[in-house]
Amino acid sequence: MQNWPLRVMSLVNHAEREHGDSEVVTAWADGSTTRTNWRTLASDARRMANALESIGMKKGDRIATLGMNHSRHLTAWYGVVGMGGILHTINPRLFDDQLEYIANHAEDRVLFYDRAFTPIVERMKPRWTTIEHYVCFDPAEGEQGFPQWIEGHSDNYTWVDGDERDPIGLCYTSGTTGNPKGVIYEHRSTMLHTLTEAIPDLFNLTKRAVVLPIVPMFHANAWGLPWAAPMVGCKMVLSADYRPDKMCALFREEKVTHSAGVPTVWLTMIEHILRTGEELGPLHQVTIGGSAAPRAMIHWFLERGIEVGHAWGMTETSPIGTCGSRPLGWENYSLEEKVDYIALQGRPPFGVELRTIDDEGNVLPRDGQTSGRLQCRGPWVIKRYFKADEDATEDGEWFDTGDVGAIHPDGTLQITDRSKDVIKSGGEWISSIELENAAVGCPGIKEAAAIGIAHPKWDERPLLVCVKVEGMDVCAVKVREHLTAHVAKWWLPDAIEFVDELPHTATGKLSKLTLRKQFSDYRFA
Ligand code: ADP
Repeated sequence: MQNWPLRVMSLVNHAEREHGDSEVVTAWADGSTTRTNWRTLASDARRMANALESIGMKKGDRIATLGMNHSRHLTAWYGVVGMGGILHTINPRLFDDQLEYIANHAEDRVLFYDRAFTPIVERMKPRWTTIEHYVCFDPAEGEQGFPQWIEGHSDNYTWVDGDERDPIGLCYTSGTTGNPKGVIYEHRSTMLHTLTEAIPDLFNLTKRAVVLPIVPMFHANAWGLPWAAPMVGCKMVLSADYRPDKMCALFREEKVTHSAGVPTVWLTMIEHILRTGEELGPLHQVTIGGSAAPRAMIHWFLERGIEVGHAWGMTETSPIGTCGSRPLGWENYSLEEKVDYIALQGRPPFGVELRTIDDEGNVLPRDGQTSGRLQCRGPWVIKRYFKADEDATEDGEWFDTGDVGAIHPDGTLQITDRSKDVIKSGGEWISSIELENAAVGCPGIKEAAAIGIAHPKWDERPLLVCVKVEGMDVCAVKVREHLTAHVAKWWLPDAIEFVDELPHTATGKLSKLTLRKQFSDYRFA
């Protein structure tokens, strides 16, 4: 057989050649909408590659983006990788110290940014020591930026060639302790991840799909969707505006069928829809991941005939590790049984191997009961962090995810916690995820976080911090009553507090670290 290297630009070539007319639609933050297609996008990416070379960029250089989801950001991805660069997607919600650290650590040479992030750029410029060029994706009327910059260059360009193992992307984990760590994606790892992602048990993508990733392009590559969409040649819809009314309208107008995002964004959408009665159009498949999908959310979608894929993964796993989709005999499941199953984290696709181990390193049984440290390996799982001296794996193979979970006899993964978030009570573990999940099932509770509070006798006991649904009045007694029906008695929180808002990380997840700090002096009455 022929030696056909697994390089990602073949995805763009394929989309240009076979699906040139499939649209890429952008809803911009200013309310305007622009439309392009895979053919024009590929041609713009070649202009961009020429433009990058004209300013001295070469293979292996790190080129950064600070942008929301839009077609110019997508063009930049392909243009950077096409000229052999390494695309560093920066999360604009990081703190200044982290922003400073990652751009300098990556030695980024160019930064493409959204006009909305100009204040960040202006503030950080003196601290970023390696960036030579700044290009605004969407310059104000009369100003120069990305469109003018690529317009001046020819679209005659041959993608830079090389090995399948060449790097293409760099993504830093938010680093809850210490400095953020960089994960390098390669052509081969990305191609294998992309080929897998489209399968029915994962994102279920076909040419007929209309995909709208709500997950930002800086969050683990929008979970790989900007690579999978050109592979299947479907229409892609991007939105730089996350307001739920705008999003709902976009779902309807562009006839979105597939979408993906973290629970917090779905929470906001669902709340909006319940309040306004808006419709979501022909949407029939959502992927929820990044943190545990609450049962109530899964129920909401399934009840409306929308399939839910519940994905677990991390920046270090490109990010797909597992995805929960319909198991055998699904037709005979009651709605509640369906919700129970999807609330677990699903099975690994071919290419990901999982195991759980105890603190002594013994591999634990797949009995669905025994929880342990979750490890994984595979062609799109990290081996070594960028510029690190040592591998991130044990025995050169297994990567320790920092998550705690159990594997069921049928291979379904159940994440019980992050190792740093489990609540250790009397030598036993309480799953903060399960407590939170049970709490948001209580009518009137919008969001909940469980953290361990030091306890003289039990070591730690759970404190549950809740946010109410706007306009709903629910008291601690009601929440406790609800929890009693769903969790073991000794798991019941020692106290329930209400707050207006819970802290979130740069990727929209609950920030337990911040919450623990906020409640560091807390004592149970
Ligand atoms: P960060 O560590 O910066 O938040 P990641 O996006 O890589 O960035 O986070 C990965 C972590 O998110 C996983 O290790 C796990 O703890 C959590 N996570 C992801 N998906 C799920 C899920 N479906 N259920 C529970 N936890 C999840």
